[in-house]
Amino acid sequence: MEKLYADVIVDISHEKVDRPFQYRIPKNLRDVITEGICVTVPFGAGNKRLKGYVTAIKDMPEFNPEKIKEIEGIAVGGVSVEDKQLLLAAYLKHNYGSTMIQALKTVLPAKQTVKALEKRTIRLCLDTEEAAVALTMCERKHMTAKARLLKELIQVTCLPYRLVTGKLNISPVTIKAMEKQGMIAIDKKEGLRNPIRIKAKNAVPKELSISQRQIVNKVLSEFDGGKTGTYLIHGITGSGKTEVYMSLIEGILKRGRQAIVLIPEIALTYQTLLRFYTRFGDRVSVLNSTLSAGEKYDQCERAKRGEIDVIIGPRSALFTPFPHVGLIIMDEEHETSYKSENSPKYHARETAEEIARMHGASVVLGSATPSMEAYYRAKKGDYTLFTLKERLTGGCLPEVYTVDMREELKAGNRSIFSIKLQELMADRLQKGQQIMLFLNRRGYAGFVSCRSCGHVMKCPHCDVSLSEHRGGKLCCHYCGYEEPAVKVCPKCSSGYISGFKAGTQQVEEKLKELFPEAGILRMDADTTRTKDSYEKILSAFANGEARILIGTQMIVKGHDFPNVTLVGILAADLSLSVSDYRAGERTFALLTQAAGRAGRGNLPGEVVIQTYQPEHYSIVHAAAQDYEGFYEEEILYRELLRYPPACHMMAVQIFAKDEKKGKMLASDLAAFAGSFQDETLKAVNRLTVIGPAPAGIGKVKDIFRFIFYVKFENYDKLVEIKDGLEEKVQSLQLKNEMMQIDFNPVNAF
Ligand code: ADP
Ligand code: ZN
Ligand code: ZN
Repeated sequence: MEKLYADVIVDISHEKVDRPFQYRIPKNLRDVITEGICVTVPFGAGNKRLKGYVTAIKDMPEFNPEKIKEIEGIAVGGVSVEDKQLLLAAYLKHNYGSTMIQALKTVLPAKQTVKALEKRTIRLCLDTEEAAVALTMCERKHMTAKARLLKELIQVTCLPYRLVTGKLNISPVTIKAMEKQGMIAIDKKEGLRNPIRIKAKNAVPKELSISQRQIVNKVLSEFDGGKTGTYLIHGITGSGKTEVYMSLIEGILKRGRQAIVLIPEIALTYQTLLRFYTRFGDRVSVLNSTLSAGEKYDQCERAKRGEIDVIIGPRSALFTPFPHVGLIIMDEEHETSYKSENSPKYHARETAEEIARMHGASVVLGSATPSMEAYYRAKKGDYTLFTLKERLTGGCLPEVYTVDMREELKAGNRSIFSIKLQELMADRLQKGQQIMLFLNRRGYAGFVSCRSCGHVMKCPHCDVSLSEHRGGKLCCHYCGYEEPAVKVCPKCSSGYISGFKAGTQQVEEKLKELFPEAGILRMDADTTRTKDSYEKILSAFANGEARILIGTQMIVKGHDFPNVTLVGILAADLSLSVSDYRAGERTFALLTQAAGRAGRGNLPGEVVIQTYQPEHYSIVHAAAQDYEGFYEEEILYRELLRYPPACHMMAVQIFAKDEKKGKMLASDLAAFAGSFQDETLKAVNRLTVIGPAPAGIGKVKDIFRFIFYVKFENYDKLVEIKDGLEEKVQSLQLKNEMMQIDFNPVNAF
């Protein structure tokens, strides 16, 4: 293609990003112009000279060529904050596949004009001593809601009304009563653009343990020596990781640099935020989904101007335009929410590493159950590994029982609760302690298993479970293999073979029959539709408003419940059978986290894991809380079948209005990808193309979907294939078909 015209975005404030302008590329610049380069162009009626960025290069004009102006030259000057954001966009486009516009929209905050909303805030009217007296009185009278609000206000003096009635779950009636008593006042003011106001930094840093100190010293001394890199902290919940993060941030701030802290949205609780606020005061800000677009934009502006130097938030907080980032922390590094579902489908881990390279910063990852990717790299020596072994708050690891549900069925127990779990539940209710029941429904897909022997129907080629499809077929979503549905188990000939259908609601009903008096809260997608309902349910459980909390994977995160001494895990293997090569890793992480919820306080905890596959290594190692053991077995499987992290995998999705055309396009593109084969490599190391197959959800809203996978050890080679595919698709000028690329996908399609 000849480089004749360039689309240029003039100034990267948001409105104009939406609309690039086309310019002619002068002859002398044709060799140097690339996407993402900064140029100077004449703009508008007065031909004012402006800086702009090239977002696309074309060989044909899209307007009347006579009206197209010419690029003046390549812009010179240092790398500004904007330039770094732009380089980042170019990185995302190159490594994950998307248009430049999509990539720019990902890294730049949406600029919006918003009216300052009137917001109510609640302010403490008592001095410290009076507040302490009032608190003691409320506690003695068991006014738990009042006591809780007082405790919060003693720390921060002023809280948004919305947060108090929402997340903190305190009723307007209680607030009114406290106002009448003169304890608090309700203020109406212009919207606070800083989401929470802190009276003073009042947290005294904890004296670090020896192993905590070692981590902090190593990271900071290497930083001072000009050696930056990625560090992985493997430590169970409560082992003091957050305390380490805060010490590291403090060190980085002293060196005049800024820090980004990534925490998955679901774990971004008020309690966690408060720890950072009270330690760093108003130099900290937060980005999360409860902020309006205007508030988000303001946080970016404040970062640019140097008004804040720590940002906390989910994945998107990575793109906070700090002038000189020194540290990026990624807590719960194994979480799948760190991968974007929209193009560019970037992963926060690798993107954090890229940002760190640009700024000369370090990356610190933390998890109780590190992702296979991170641990693999730590073992190879790419990352520095630290381990924190002890819980600092006391409380020992819980006792774990694994119950074989096949045996329960044989013994005549058809209930969804095993005898062991029923006995322990009765015991806890009688002692006035609390119980959590976790129904593992992660990524639930219509797989088929035998309740009598535990056998799961699997693909003979991919070793992932087959899914039930329309028309009574079982299909593999990786390679397209199919076979007829079965009525009897091929292993034990029992007729108890079918898809699994129990949900949280059903568990709740059965539980009510067993323990009508218990008081039960349920947390799942249905009960958490509104923004605050998630924390509200957890707050209600913490207040002791119910004895039992039932939930999906949502309940394994967030608050600590010192009174929970029993955790029941129902259908532990459900997530094992999802047709996804990461099923074992997910299951291990979920079970380990769920088990870790028992016995956080002074009381010892017990865990019951109910399963049809007690011998599966994910369950055996989770019951033993043995990460190493799990990793060693899992990595063998990944290496053998060439799944990430042992290999890289690119998923190519085709969307089409017409089934036949989609299928044909998918086949053509898969064959094209296969043409990148390197025949000189040994057979086991060659490029592999799997599929195409209809995607898991084969048809959505009348659009058909097909998928194929390309596996290779070298990432750059896959990028090269992606570029080839994109060029090919562009040249086909498709109207009713579309392609989407996903590198190392975290979810099966
Ligand atoms: P994690 O992030 O690994 O879950 P935290 O940093 O939250 O662990 O620590 C768990 C608990 O232990 C917290 O209550 C914290 O205040 C406390 N803690 C952490 N480090 C220390 C320390 N060095 N000395 C005393 N308490 C500590
Ligand atoms: Zn069977
Ligand atoms: Zn298969």
